[in-house]
Parts: sequence; structure tokens; C-alpha cells
Amino acid sequence: MKRLTQLANELNVRKAEYSRLNWTLYTTGYDFGIEGAYEKIMEIMKDKENFGLIESYMEQELSKADKRRVEILHNSFKPFHLTDELNALNLKIQQKTNELLKILNNFRYQLDGREVSAVELAQVLSMDSDREKRKEAYFARNQINGLMVENGFIELIDLRKEYAKQYGAENFVAYQLEANELDGGLFDSWQSELQEILPQMTEGRKKFAQEFLGEDEIKPWDEQYIQSQIAPSLNETVDMSEYYTNIQELFGSFCIDLPSMNITYDISPRANKSEWGYNFTVETGKDSRILANVKNKYFEYGVLLHETGHGVHSFLLDPEEKILNEGVSGIVSEGIANLFQGFLYSPAFYGKFFKDAEKVGEEFRRLKEYQKLNSLRSISRIFFDHSLYKNDIASLDDIHGLYWENQLAVLGEGALDQAPPWAYMIHFTTHPIYLHNYFMGDVTCAMLEQVFKEKHGGSMEEMPEQFGQFLRSEVIEPSGTLKYNDLFQEISGREFSLKYLLD
Ligand SMILES: [Zn+2]
Repeated sequence: MKRLTQLANELNVRKAEYSRLNWTLYTTGYDFGIEGAYEKIMEIMKDKENFGLIESYMEQELSKADKRRVEILHNSFKPFHLTDELNALNLKIQQKTNELLKILNNFRYQLDGREVSAVELAQVLSMDSDREKRKEAYFARNQINGLMVENGFIELIDLRKEYAKQYGAENFVAYQLEANELDGGLFDSWQSELQEILPQMTEGRKKFAQEFLGEDEIKPWDEQYIQSQIAPSLNETVDMSEYYTNIQELFGSFCIDLPSMNITYDISPRANKSEWGYNFTVETGKDSRILANVKNKYFEYGVLLHETGHGVHSFLLDPEEKILNEGVSGIVSEGIANLFQGFLYSPAFYGKFFKDAEKVGEEFRRLKEYQKLNSLRSISRIFFDHSLYKNDIASLDDIHGLYWENQLAVLGEGALDQAPPWAYMIHFTTHPIYLHNYFMGDVTCAMLEQVFKEKHGGSMEEMPEQFGQFLRSEVIEPSGTLKYNDLFQEISGREFSLKYLLD
């Protein structure tokens, strides 16, 4: 395996360089040669000798772990050894994605004739009691739809469609599932499972709408607002200069020593900086960098906890296991990140901020009830992403048509009177067929909480040290050695099921 390890090390150096350049691009808008760095990675992946070496290991008798290492490398190298056309297409896809990414990162919305950041829009949606104002803030996010299409978003979708076709996959969704070692029929039952509980969801939402809006229906621009009506503490002003200490203490309770980890934070909004949240794993267990955009509200800690969860996950992996670390499923990493994000509603974290812990606890208990009611709604945006690759699209109107069609089919909700905000979600451009990772990550967390309780007789909040240990030994350590489905079964003894979210 020595030669394979060497190959993985070489690849790792180039990927780290690529990641550092991405970090600079996302935080400052400067591109110091992303494409060149990507081509350098491709050089290694395309090399026939390298691929031959991996294939030669496929025929050998190997230990289980080595077999998995070879499988991971083979999966990632294989697409580069099919045809020259596919490699050319791949490069074009990368170029187009980068072009559009820059437009997204540099774009700023207008509200009331003034430039606003995504953080400000989020604050209006969470706090403004004027419903019309919130509606304006909600639709402000559609301002970038046209720009993305003018600059080639549909071209990018077509390139991905063509790639999947030449690869021999049924469509780009199927291609992505295969690339991520997931079952092609993964989503087949979701629609019917959702339909089963949709009437109950709608009824539950109606009660909240009546109580907090005096209306029968929650509109998209009410979603954040209603959450902060249920739990006003979300909007509490906090001093963000203390963020590191607060986060460090939370992770410390799980025996996770944040200061020993080389995690860099860039948390303030700026011109030309991406308005999303990211963790750039430059090198697993050596260098992680967090991009976030927060100002001064308690709910903004959610993104910091999520991204820190990613960073910590990286540092709990063995940095020497470069190949196995590549085999960690996106579902596991988003699951772990969401798990830590969830501590926003736990006394272990909010206890630092609020004096009346009982009152806040009651707020967050109701908030969780509400969130549970909505837990399956994100299937809608997951399926919208799919629909882009399963239908012919020629214009912006086609995309909007698909958006409403999908929303009606999935949630039974009709079209609104303005263009739907979609392009602002960076995932459609940079991370296609990725959104299920968050959703399935939540299912995974629900499963982990349940299994932990069964095994240890207490909740993760009651036994944080044991939970930290459980997370390391049962989830993080084996996470690269098993495909997602196998890992899920190994931990729970059961098949993956959306029901975990509803129990
Ligand atoms: Zn994440």
C-alpha cells in the first residue's frame, strides 16, 4: 500500500493548495489561480500509471481496510479514465461553476433602494413585525435569478446533463448518487412518505399561524418570523466578540479541546465575501477555516456552531488516514455539523446568554415542536434541484415554472405572485445534488440521539462526556471505512428511514 499512500499524499498537497485558493476567493473575491490548481489535481487523477497502480491493487488479496482504501481511490479516479470528451466536459463544468460562483459572491441585494447584506435580510425576516416588509425582504433574494441565467446557469446545467449522459448514467442525479456511494433509489419513497403526513403538518402549521400571525397560512416570509415569535430569545442581541470563548466552552463539555485545533474564523460580512457559511477543510486534522457572516443576534450562533462542528469533525479524524478520510459521506459531515448547530436550543449553550433559563427552555421546547412539524418540508428544495436535471430548460421562465410545479407536487402549495428566490442558494450552482446531505444528516442525528439513549440510559446533554466519546468511537472513527448506508446500519442495527425525524 506504500505506493498508494504516496499517491494519496501527492494528491492531498494539490487539494490543499486548491482549498487555500478557494478560501481566498470566498473570503476576498480574489482568484489567484483556482483553475490552474484544479488542473493540477486533474493531472494526477488523469494519469494512466496512477490509475493502473490502483487497478493492480484491485486484484490483490487485501485486508478489509485496505480494500476500502483501494475502493475509495478507484471511485474517484475512474471517471477520469473513460473518455477524453468527459475530461474536457469536466473542465468546462469547473470553469463555468467558478465564473458563476464569483458573480454570486460579489452580488449584493437591494432593499428600499439601498444595498443590504444577507445578514440584514435575515434579520428583517426574523424580526420585522410588518408582514409587507418581510415579503419585500423575501423576494429581494430573487434579484439574482436573472443575472445567473444571463451568465450561463442553464449552460452549466446542460453541461452537467451532457456529462451524465456520456458517463452512461440515467441522469445527473443518478450520476451524483453513484459518485457519492448512495443507492440510486434513495429518494423513491420520500414523496409518498411526505404525502402521508402532509395533512397533519398543514394542520399543525395552521395552529401556529393563527396564534402568532392571526392568519390561517404561513407564507415563506413568515417562516423565520414565526420561529422568533415562538422563541423571542433567538433575536436577543449578543456580543459577538465573545464568540470563541462561548463555542470553546460548549465543545469543552464534550471533552473536545477547541484551542488545540488549528481552526481559523472569518465571521464578519464584507464586500466581495461569500454571504454563506463554510468550513474549508484545507488539510484534514491540520488546517480548517471557517467562513461565516454574523452580526449581533443569538440565532446567528447557529451557523458558527454548524461550521465549528465541521472543523472539529476534521480534527477528530486521523490526519494520516488520507484515503479513508476521503470516504467520509457528506451526510455524516452535515449530520455532525447539524448536531452541534442544534445545541443553539440546549441549556448547555443558551445558559451562557440568558438569565431566565426556564422561560427560554420553554420557548425552545415549543420551537422544536414547530421545527419537527416542518422537518420534511426541505424535501421540496431537494426535489427542485433534481428537477433541473430531469427536465428541459431553455429560459428563466422555464426554471420558475419548474419551481412552482415542484412546490405544488411536493407540498401542495401554489405559485406566488412574484418570481421565486432560488439562484441565491449557492448549492444549485456549486453543490448540485447536495441538499439531501443536510436533511439525511438530521435523520442521522435523530438516530444517534436515540441509540445513545438506549445504550447509556441518558440524553447527550445529561452525559456530554460519554456522548463525546460515543461520537468519536461509533461515528467519526469508522466514518471513512464504511459507506453511508452500512455505517447507519452498523450504528443503529436498522435501515435508514425518515421516521427517525418524526418519532
Ligand atoms: Zn455544513
